[in-house]
Amino acid sequence: MSLRLASLICKTIMEDTFKDRGARKRLIEELKTKGIVDERVLSAMLKIPRHYFIQPEFRTHAYQDKAFKIDAGQTISQPYTVAYQTQLLQIEKGDKVLEVGTGSAYQSIILLELGVELYTIERQSALFNKAHARIAKFGYKATCILGDGSKGYESAAPYDKIIVTAGAPVLPEALIKQLKIGGILIIPIGDNQTQKMHSIVKTSATTFEEITLENFRFVPLIGEQAW
Ligand code: SAM
Repeated sequence: MSLRLASLICKTIMEDTFKDRGARKRLIEELKTKGIVDERVLSAMLKIPRHYFIQPEFRTHAYQDKAFKIDAGQTISQPYTVAYQTQLLQIEKGDKVLEVGTGSAYQSIILLELGVELYTIERQSALFNKAHARIAKFGYKATCILGDGSKGYESAAPYDKIIVTAGAPVLPEALIKQLKIGGILIIPIGDNQTQKMHSIVKTSATTFEEITLENFRFVPLIGEQAW
């Protein structure tokens, strides 16, 4: 690709047009009809241009409620999934949050927009490098880690909230350990086809309460305490 073409594509992606904002508004209305009620989550998703995180060929589809391929054979989650997981986290300003599976960093930016202190971990270096730059471009600070998030990130534990954005075969023990008492962990658990969303609240150093929710389909969580 020539330098001129590359810079033209980049400029087109980084524009947030009237049409984009309109499409984003319609997406937010769609999310409401699907049961997303947290106004703060909806406002953050209305503000952040999802097309910045999407490959140029999917640019015109960015505001469809669909997942799309990103680098390294991974996906940017469907907007409904991002809204659903974020709503379940019950974010409070200043929460220390661990995100496992940075991917495109779209979910990361939504969390940062809600005022969290973010630690985000990704195992694919191509995605890690891009995410790091994207977060800075939006003017946010987060700790981006390249590694296996199935083991959590001990150095900054304990966390108020943990979100896992890849499908786990079982609940990774390290994540429960690294959660504060009273903290919330949102994780999809299942086989490599379908996972059920789990919302877990740590009730003491050794106990937790778990609610099993809707079915989703995520890329696999790959690592020591995963696939
Ligand atoms: N939230 C992301 C977004 O908005 O783009 C979507 C993430 S994608 C569905 C799941 C990500 O989890 C992939 O980027 C994948 O490489 C990453 N992943 C899988 N196993 C992981 C692990 N053990 N540690 C860290 N990241 C992992």
